[in-house]
Amino acid sequence: MSVQPVEPGQCDTPRCDGTAEEITPEGYVCASCAREIEHAYREAKRRDRAGQEVRQ
Ligand SMILES: [Zn+2]
Repeated sequence: MSVQPVEPGQCDTPRCDGTAEEITPEGYVCASCAREIEHAYREAKRRDRAGQEVRQ
């Protein structure tokens, strides 16, 4: 992995220049992005589980 010049305290989400407040699997992001990412992960997990049940 390369070292990215990340400004401290800046949201990692592209197109967002909010203040980073929370660590997520996507990086260090602002509170609203963290909520969106958390929601997206929950949805993905649910879809994943549903897909597996359908396939088996
Ligand atoms: Zn953000």
